Amino acid sequence: MRVSVVGTGYVGLVSGACLADKGHDVVCVDIDPEKVERIRRGEAPIYEEGLDDLLARHVGRGLRATTDLRDAVLGTDLTLIAVGTPFDGQRIDLRFVREVARQIGAVLRDKDAYHVVAVKSTVVPGTTDRVVLPLLEEASGKRAGRDFGVGMNPEFLTEGVAVRDFLRPDRIVLGGIDERTIARLDELYAAFPDVPRVRTNNTTAEMIKYASNSVLATLISFSNEIAALCSALGGVDVADVMRGVHLAQYFTTALEDGRRVVAPITSFLEAGCGFGGSCLPKDVAALAAQGREAGVGMRLLSAVLDINREQPGRMLELLGRHFPSLSGVRVTVLGLAFKPDTDDVRESPALPIVARLIDAGARVTAYDPVATESAARVLPREGVRFARDLADAVAGAQAILLVTRWREFEALHEWVQRMQEPPVVVDGRRVLDRTRFARYEGIGVRV
Ligand code: NAD
Repeated sequence: MRVSVVGTGYVGLVSGACLADKGHDVVCVDIDPEKVERIRRGEAPIYEEGLDDLLARHVGRGLRATTDLRDAVLGTDLTLIAVGTPFDGQRIDLRFVREVARQIGAVLRDKDAYHVVAVKSTVVPGTTDRVVLPLLEEASGKRAGRDFGVGMNPEFLTEGVAVRDFLRPDRIVLGGIDERTIARLDELYAAFPDVPRVRTNNTTAEMIKYASNSVLATLISFSNEIAALCSALGGVDVADVMRGVHLAQYFTTALEDGRRVVAPITSFLEAGCGFGGSCLPKDVAALAAQGREAGVGMRLLSAVLDINREQPGRMLELLGRHFPSLSGVRVTVLGLAFKPDTDDVRESPALPIVARLIDAGARVTAYDPVATESAARVLPREGVRFARDLADAVAGAQAILLVTRWREFEALHEWVQRMQEPPVVVDGRRVLDRTRFARYEGIGVRV
């Protein structure tokens, strides 16, 4: 199928490259000419494992990039909208989605063939039918359902493993205003015959995405609340508690012969210094805001966000057990990305942690294997030294805060054991073996 994808961020570019890999003829559109140029050269503007490889194989063949939306829509049968949907503090900001819908509508005015426009961006329930569809009709002068289809195809990929997630999805959700729209979306995913599918209306598709993110965020904040209580009580370690919780039959799969398959514990059941990223915080906040507007209290999701906002502060509390004042203390922050295997620092708990350390007068060194550049753009220029590597980062540190679960940090004990003065190590992800550190603190355990 000939497919256009508007927006070449994490979702748009990964979707475009993977759909090209599945044999579709894909054109990716972005307003940012620099991004388009990089893609044309076969370079991924973002760090995602496997993406460079896909671009190398498909750019110039089944995958093109352009800034010309008109040309892209005219030459394809289906358009996926994958632009950003930030949260402005009150509600989801649909500026980019609206703009793109208007532009696509204007092109459809001049297109005779039936076309499907599907929203892939995460938008609050009702947006596709009540915002995107009317804009398309208005700009095109045509009728949805008769002249073109309007669908909603939420994306569940996880940054860091986005390519793998897209190529091996756990589910495919296809919303549409009618059978014809859904049939075309079905065809788009023809290369995934064994993946469970939900075919539904647009509003349900939108809600599935929000409910999915909200349940994950809820599990994390739940684990963090239990962690806070474990810390306060002493003699109980949240890591052991959640491993025990995880073995419940609801989290495991029963085989026909009665045996159980126990998957590795999900990070959503592990306590830590909080969730971040471009999705969970904004999506939960957006759904809670929509609920309140609709007269539903959304008390649970509000609490989920409140607990999450407190988590970065817990790292400083743990540090405070060893340093009554942080003024002049050499503190190293390990990890700036909101999760491992990505350079994305949006809403990363590392940002408020670094900011608070600077405010408290600490001498901050920060290190991340890939996210240093993106973090340097948003962190204050003064007050942070960015280390080259782990050795450089830990050298001379009086305290080390582990914030992102990067693999290489699991060997931190090897570096710390070589140091003359053992630093205080605060484990914000509970990945370290605490018996290997002379001065250890961790979320959810009192040592
Ligand atoms: P992003 O900010 O990385 O990328 C958005 C892209 O859209 C940018 O490259 C921007 O230049 C481009 N753009 C903006 N306006 C445009 C226009 N008028 N025409 C063409 N291009 C335009 O965003 P993202 O992280 O890929 O997220 C996109 C959507 O997918 C959001 O709604 C997000 O919530 C959702 N989502 C994201 C993830 C994730 O892990 N990042 C996962 C699932 C869903």
